[in-house]
Amino acid sequence: MCQSVMLHGFVFLEENISFALMDLSELTLDREGLAAAIACEDAAFEAALCEEAYRVKVAAVGPEVYLRGLIEISNICTKNCLYCGIRRDIRCQRYELSEEEVLSAARLAASRRFGSVVIQGGERSDAAFIRKITRLLKAIKSIDTGDDPPLGITLSLGEQPREVYEEWFDAGAHRYLLRIESSNPDLYRRIHPEDHSYDRRLRALYDLKEIGYHAGTGAMIGTPFQTAQDMADDLLFYKKFDTPMVGMGPYNPHPETPLTLTGAPYPSAERRFALGLKMIALLRLLMPDINIAAATALEVLDPHGREKGILSGANVIMPNITPREQMVKYNLYDRKSLNASDVLDIAAKGIPIGYGLWGDSKHLAIEGK
Ligand code: SAH
Ligand code: SF4
Repeated sequence: MCQSVMLHGFVFLEENISFALMDLSELTLDREGLAAAIACEDAAFEAALCEEAYRVKVAAVGPEVYLRGLIEISNICTKNCLYCGIRRDIRCQRYELSEEEVLSAARLAASRRFGSVVIQGGERSDAAFIRKITRLLKAIKSIDTGDDPPLGITLSLGEQPREVYEEWFDAGAHRYLLRIESSNPDLYRRIHPEDHSYDRRLRALYDLKEIGYHAGTGAMIGTPFQTAQDMADDLLFYKKFDTPMVGMGPYNPHPETPLTLTGAPYPSAERRFALGLKMIALLRLLMPDINIAAATALEVLDPHGREKGILSGANVIMPNITPREQMVKYNLYDRKSLNASDVLDIAAKGIPIGYGLWGDSKHLAIEGK
């Protein structure tokens, strides 16, 4: 029986939802059904759900895993999200990769035939940073990839003015990852300072889509104050936004952030991991043909976290190719236990890897950019 509604002292399931949800065949993909599945802690149910999602993935998009070499360009950030270890007001050693460092990481991605790179970092909108990204996009596009197409480029650099998104799109980026963080505006407000705006974030997502990016989004899973309904709503938000790709992952507390320091409870590491896999599986059932990333945050909670994400319905992995010396400073949360050999693990399992391919979402018609 799935009975637990209280999780570490806070109400995880706020409404009186009946969840005599014992069997996968009873799962419904509406708000009530999703919330009940999320709240259900029955291991057999969770395992069956993940297996089913893997089957649905293979049928809808094939068994391949696509790679994006992750380049963490800088931990300098003008924002102050209450959960983030590189927020503006936290004291830490800041870094910014030089253009040559970014390019040599991108060349490494090309030589390993990753097909794509993701440039991620703190949010900055100063002219020097914007121009640097534009130059880098053009330079990365001209890297020789042999017989493969030029590297596909995803950006994840936060909210920017529409003109900046346009400039970067014209320079060669075609995917952008901007998590909504929580689709519930009240929860969004609780985990961000007052001057951060849910509406602005949503506007930015629509700007990206209108410009022509493959606009990916996502949310953290298992933050303080988050209920099973909130998570169900996150899934329904992805569906409503009709996103072609999702990168979502467990919340991992950073010891020095305001959110951690409030002492507000959140699910255990084990539960956040199980929730991370379950959200991937439910999303795969809800949106069979999109790209879903097995997030780095999974790997922090389990040495085979990303591999388990793939076996629960994800189809994208982002191996970190940031120079080691700087990577350790990109501390959104504690990443000491990160396993770097995920691609090898997956290949060893016999799961095919889409080497040299962009691996764009099958949810969209590819317009040959
Ligand atoms: N600055 C950009 C991109 C870098 S942050 C942005 O915010 O969009 C990338 C992601 O890290 C964020 O979207 C957030 O969801 C995640 N993140 C930050 N702190 C985290 C934490 N403590 N646990 C899990 N994920 C976190
Ligand atoms: Fe900056 Fe992104 Fe961290 Fe927010 S989540 S503080 S925008 S790096």
